[in-house]
Amino acid sequence: MPAWGLELVRVGAIAPAVLRQLREDLAVCLAHPVWVAEQELSVSDAFSSDRRQYSADQLLASLQSPPPAANVKRLGVADVDLYLPVFAHVLGSAQLNGTVGIASTHRLRPEFTGDPGNPHTLRLRILKEILHELGHTFGLVHCGLSWCVMSASLLPEHVDLKDPSYCTSCAETIGVPRDGILSFFLKGDTP
Ligand SMILES: [Zn+2]
Ligand SMILES: [Zn+2]
Repeated sequence: MPAWGLELVRVGAIAPAVLRQLREDLAVCLAHPVWVAEQELSVSDAFSSDRRQYSADQLLASLQSPPPAANVKRLGVADVDLYLPVFAHVLGSAQLNGTVGIASTHRLRPEFTGDPGNPHTLRLRILKEILHELGHTFGLVHCGLSWCVMSASLLPEHVDLKDPSYCTSCAETIGVPRDGILSFFLKGDTP
């Protein structure tokens, strides 16, 4: 596995604290360089007035131009409600075996389902979603192990059941550590 890096892109307005924490957590989990791009991607062109949602396909297309450097994956972090034509909503989306992906905090906020706001819950959920979409860009499909971050999840409650880590097989494909650092990370930050 050659060296690679992950570039995060602000898609619309994202709280700086959320993105800063996410970048730090990803750097620990992946043990590869992770940075935040200078430029922010506007969401306005991706808005569907019919659906009152934002097109994940269109945002993925925008994230590809200009294309990232070789061995760089580019993942957008949004706070708007994303959709794909065949789905009522999606938590994220990515090019399978490509370079770009996107995930949104919109439905991951506990407040979305009427629960009290909890920064720790949101922090873990967006971390898992980005790890998941990143895996797709490396060609990983959904994993049969329920705890692996590459298992499928349509709802935030499903995201909570996964670990923020890849199983041995998925981790090997991407070239990242397995769960050693993450167990520490989880224990250290559980409120
Ligand atoms: Zn997936
Ligand atoms: Zn797996």
